[in-house]
Amino acid sequence: MSRYSKRMEHIRASEIREILKLTQRPGLISFAGGLPAPELFPVKELIEINEEVLKNHSNQALQYGLTEGYGPLRKAIAKRMEKVHVKTHGENILVISGSQQGLDFTAKIFLDKDDVVLCESPTYLGAINAFKAYEPKFVEVETDEDGMVMEDLEKKLKENKNIKLIYVIPDFQNPSGITWSINRRKKLVELANKYDVVIVEDSPYGELRFEGEILPAVMHYDTQDRVIFLGTFSKTLCPGMRIGWVAASKEILNKYILVKQGADLQSSTITQMEIARFMEEYDYDGHIEKIKEVYGKRRDLMMDTIKKEFPEGIKYNYPEGGLFTWIELPEYIDTRKLALKALEENVAFIPGGSFYPNGGHENAFRLNFSNMEEDRIVEGIKRLGKVLKEELHQ
Ligand code: PMP
Repeated sequence: MSRYSKRMEHIRASEIREILKLTQRPGLISFAGGLPAPELFPVKELIEINEEVLKNHSNQALQYGLTEGYGPLRKAIAKRMEKVHVKTHGENILVISGSQQGLDFTAKIFLDKDDVVLCESPTYLGAINAFKAYEPKFVEVETDEDGMVMEDLEKKLKENKNIKLIYVIPDFQNPSGITWSINRRKKLVELANKYDVVIVEDSPYGELRFEGEILPAVMHYDTQDRVIFLGTFSKTLCPGMRIGWVAASKEILNKYILVKQGADLQSSTITQMEIARFMEEYDYDGHIEKIKEVYGKRRDLMMDTIKKEFPEGIKYNYPEGGLFTWIELPEYIDTRKLALKALEENVAFIPGGSFYPNGGHENAFRLNFSNMEEDRIVEGIKRLGKVLKEELHQ
C-alpha cells in the first residue's frame, strides 16, 4: 500500500517550476515565467500604508478577521468590477489568497472523480494542476483567435456526461495571449444555460489592455447566476501579497466560504487592509496605466523583433494586453527539445505541450514579455531566432 493518497499520483512537479529553477542562472534571458515587472511595484506607497495601518489600526490588522474578507476591500472590489461591466456587491465577493486558491476551491466544490471539465485548448497550467488533485477528466475544446469554437463546445456538451464546469480565461489568455470576442462570450453563456453547466471565468489580466476598450466579462452576460469570476491583485498590484477574489451568487459563494474556513480560515487581515487603502486613497488607476505603458512597449518590441528575426513558417498571435504571446511552429518541431537548445544560448521559454491537459501539441511555446528589460527582449528574441533558423527546414 502506498504511504500517500491516491490523489498524489496525479500531482507532479510543474514543468514551469523545473524550468524556472534553471532560469535563476546569471546571464540567462528568461521569457519563461509569468512574473510582473518588480520595478513597477508601488513600494513607496505600500511602505506608507503599512506604517499607517500598524500605527493606527494594529489591533484589527494583526487580529483574525471574517472568513469572507475585510468589508471595505470586498466593497472596493465589487466597485472595481464595474471596469469589466459587472454589477455586483461586497456580499458577493470572497477574498482569497490569490486566484490560484480559487481554482483549488472550485475543484473541491464541484468535482468528483471522473467528472468532466471543459477547457480551452491550450489552457492555464496552474488550473490543470489544481483540478487534477480531484481526478476529473479534461475535455479540451477547440480554440481559435476569438476564443473557444462554439460548434465544438456544443458538440462536446452533447457528447459528454457529468460535465461540471466550463473553465475559461477570456482575456489575454495564459498561455496563448488571445482574447475572446464579444459574440463568443455571449454564445458561451447561452450554451451554458442550455446545457445547465457552471462557467468559471478566470480573469487575472482583463484590466491590462494596451489598446482599445476593456471588454465586458463573461459574467456581464450571465442572467442565471452560473458564472463564477476569479480575480486577483497579482498582476495589477503585486503577486507577493497573495490576494485575489471570487465573485459569485450568494448561494455559490457560501460554498466557497465554507471551504475557505476549512483551508485557512481567512486571507491575511493586514494585507487586505493595505490593499483596500491603496485602492481608496492612492491612484490605483494611474498605477495600472503605468503598468500598461511599460508592458505595451515590451509587447511592441517583442513582436517587432519576432517579425524581423524569426524564420518563415511560424505562426504567432498579437496580444492586445496581458503578459504573453504564443508561437506555433511546424509540427515536426518538438519544443521540449528546442527549449534545451535555447538554454544553450541562454534563453528560456515554456514548451507549449505543458498547457494541454491531455498531452500532444509539442510544436508551440509561450513567451512572456512583462518581466524583461527592453534591450534584453531584443537580444533574447535574436538568440531564439538563431536557434529556430537552425531547426526549421527552410
Ligand atoms: N489564473 C491564471 C490564468 C493565471 O495566469 C494565474 C497566474 N499566473 C493565476 C490564475 C493565479 O494567480 P494568483 O494566484 O497569483 O492570483
